[in-house]
Amino acid sequence: MQRGSYLKCISPSCGLEYEIGRTDVYCERGHLLDVAYSDSPSTDLKDVFYERRNPQDSIFNESGVWRFRELLNFCQIDMTDDAQCSKYLVSLDGAEGRQSKPYHMSKVAEFAGVSGDSLWLQPEGYNPSGSFKDNGMATAVTHAKMVGVKKIICASTGNTSASAGMFAANEGMDCDVYIPAGQIAPGKLSQAYQFGAQIVQVDGNFDDALRQSLDEAQNHQGYTVNSVNPFRIEGQKTIPFRALEYLGWDAPDWLVYPGGALGNISSCGKALMELHRWGWIKKIPRIAVINAEGAGTMSDLYNGEFEGESLRWNKGHPNEDLIQRYYAGLEKDGIRPKTGATAIQIGRPANILKGLRALEFTDGVATTVSDSEMLDGMSIAGLNGFDCEMASGASIAGIKKLVNKGIIKKDDTVVGILTGRQKDAMLPVDYHSDPKNRFARPPRA
Ligand SMILES: *Cc1c(COP(=O)(O)O)cnc(C)c1O
Repeated sequence: MQRGSYLKCISPSCGLEYEIGRTDVYCERGHLLDVAYSDSPSTDLKDVFYERRNPQDSIFNESGVWRFRELLNFCQIDMTDDAQCSKYLVSLDGAEGRQSKPYHMSKVAEFAGVSGDSLWLQPEGYNPSGSFKDNGMATAVTHAKMVGVKKIICASTGNTSASAGMFAANEGMDCDVYIPAGQIAPGKLSQAYQFGAQIVQVDGNFDDALRQSLDEAQNHQGYTVNSVNPFRIEGQKTIPFRALEYLGWDAPDWLVYPGGALGNISSCGKALMELHRWGWIKKIPRIAVINAEGAGTMSDLYNGEFEGESLRWNKGHPNEDLIQRYYAGLEKDGIRPKTGATAIQIGRPANILKGLRALEFTDGVATTVSDSEMLDGMSIAGLNGFDCEMASGASIAGIKKLVNKGIIKKDDTVVGILTGRQKDAMLPVDYHSDPKNRFARPPRA
């Protein structure tokens, strides 16, 4: 097999390897795959990446994803050659990841009970389609193009379909999106229509929609762009890359994410594992993943709230039976994931094993927050002049909760990821119309 870049099963007892052009998202025994690289990029690239912040007429320097292209070189091209970049790399004219970097937000810091100098929030909602998904879609669609795909397929709680639709329209590909009928924000659904995606309504929840879309991709040669696609994970590594770069590659104490399908914490974990192995960072930040109370699979399992066993990656030998029994229990009791934060309304996180690996590597934590806590988190970001959606409010609410529990210390350096912008126009209207809400400013007659 040609080295350089290849696919590798995440299970150490399996360890199967594949050519980079493979499009099945699982190994033949059903495990998730990683993109693997045989070289160790030189830390001299830190200067190159910094210089690219002055893009000098290159959309690949402008892009917050492709600015780091040497660390995502699964195409195995000469990344200093503009012609090769233009031929292979998919970009929304350099806009993906371009506006995203960490900011201080004083009111958020006060609300969360941490020092304003050490709290950073990184709004990923300022991506072209309005969520962090564009970071990973740029790389997944690059791989799709590399292998000659005509149609991409995804299941979505909304933002994946908006992003996939936008990239597909730009690349002249077809795009089918499977959505749980009636359970996605209208602003997200309308984007998928606007970009000409074929909507497939599934009678069920996101977990059902994902199952159906994976079957369809397998049986009809569609290309899956959900976060089970290892190339999605590659692009989303640039979220922590940008955060770390802005902090001078001086790793923070914490990186905090909302948790849905757990692709994002999986990317963060993989980014940190690689940077550490390559000698780019010495300290390993801890990942905190914040579930909604009504969709708390990772938190329940990680914290031993099911059968009293704390589920761990366990060096690649997690207790998968425990996960299956947890899911069977949900099924038996008719428990459906339920939260107003539809982006994280997921009961069976498809990347749970990669997520566990990320938490193990970073000595991470998992917790839950309520819907009203997320709405307060979303709203306080607004008072600092930043727009985010309810699921992103989980990062802020989660930081506050972990500070209250003494797990995050007041002076710890914390980067919270605000995953998407507001696409549910009535949510802030309803929040502010009710004077009982903590930050409500009701209309005046
Ligand atoms: C997709 C999404 C999430 C969940 O991310 P995962 O990688 O699935 O855990 C959280 N917030 C927003 C806004 C999203 O679009």
